[in-house]
Amino acid sequence: MGMPGCGRQRAKRPNSFADFLVQFRWVLIVPIVLPLSFLFYQYIQWRATIRRLIHGPPSEEKHRQAIKKVQDRIKRRHPKLDGMICTARRPWLEVSMRHSEHKRSHRFEVDLSHLTDIVWVDRERMLIKCEPMVCMSEVSAAVLPLGMAPQVLPELDDLTVGGVINGYGIEGSSHLFGLFSDTCVAYELVLVDGSLVRATADNEYSDLFHAVPWSHGSIGLLVGAEFRLTPVKEYMKVTYSPVTGNLDDIANHYLESFRPPQNDYEEKVPDFVETMIFNETNADHNRQVCFKRRGDLQRECD
Ligand SMILES: Cc1cc2nc3c(=O)[nH]c(=O)nc-3n(C[C@H](O)[C@H](O)[C@H](O)COP(=O)(O)OP(=O)(O)OC[C@H]3O[C@@H](n4cnc5c(N)ncnc54)[C@H](O)[C@@H]3O)c2cc1C
Repeated sequence: MGMPGCGRQRAKRPNSFADFLVQFRWVLIVPIVLPLSFLFYQYIQWRATIRRLIHGPPSEEKHRQAIKKVQDRIKRRHPKLDGMICTARRPWLEVSMRHSEHKRSHRFEVDLSHLTDIVWVDRERMLIKCEPMVCMSEVSAAVLPLGMAPQVLPELDDLTVGGVINGYGIEGSSHLFGLFSDTCVAYELVLVDGSLVRATADNEYSDLFHAVPWSHGSIGLLVGAEFRLTPVKEYMKVTYSPVTGNLDDIANHYLESFRPPQNDYEEKVPDFVETMIFNETNADHNRQVCFKRRGDLQRECD
């Protein structure tokens, strides 16, 4: 939400060097940052492809070997001399809202960057098991061709499985499935003593299972996660409803949009709901309902 009256404000004139840099940031972003980002993504993708060619397809055994590196590193930590444990991921790569100041102080960093495999996809049980550095774009690329998607698929491609569990992940389907962590059925964690545990909602580590979401790595290092998939259909009908009013009106309309729209095909709750807030008095809610066949969508629109 903008500050009151910000919709009526004129664009600020740059009055300091910082303002100037903000206003003309495109001068750096378009010719320099965008090409560098493109090259960086190419590098990441090629590195993953080459790694796969060398090491072969993912398997539980390779996953165990990858976890062992993490356990070995943690076992080398001296509890009194070394600092507290944290991931070695550089702050500039993180999308988290959390300040990574803690990484500047004395910390015992554990590198998880080799944990990049989708270990398996189980089509029968509609489950997928991923290592923590698998990012959202890789999850969707692996399961969409199979007619499935994660129940909650945070839209930023760069978000990692480890990040959306230990931080948070939310998306337009969260009114049905909750946060990303609510779709998880098991976590593999390396604890401070280097032991590996598999925590589920009903095993002896169920307390850890419930504590991991939003824990920012304070429970242990997440080295694997199993989460639910859902079947996806090919077509989608999107209904936009503009809203004008105060914050209460916008919030009430948002809540209303979770209900099945009148005369909706199959009278169902929308599969996705999203809202764009343009300023303090104007928003646009959109409901999205998936359809299996174009014909069904056509009938609905007629
Ligand atoms: C501009 C912006 C836009 C955003 N948009 C969205 C959005 O559209 N949808 C959405 O759902 N969220 C969004 N977020 C929030 C984002 O999903 C969360 O902040 C998420 O935690 C970041 O994930 P990451 O992969 O960058 O993880 P990181 O930032 O690397 O990690 C998040 C936290 O988890 C810890 N952690 C990560 N991996 C592990 C591990 N393997 N073991 C133990 N601890 C670990 C890290 O130490 C850190 O504390 C947005 C955030 C920003 C800043």
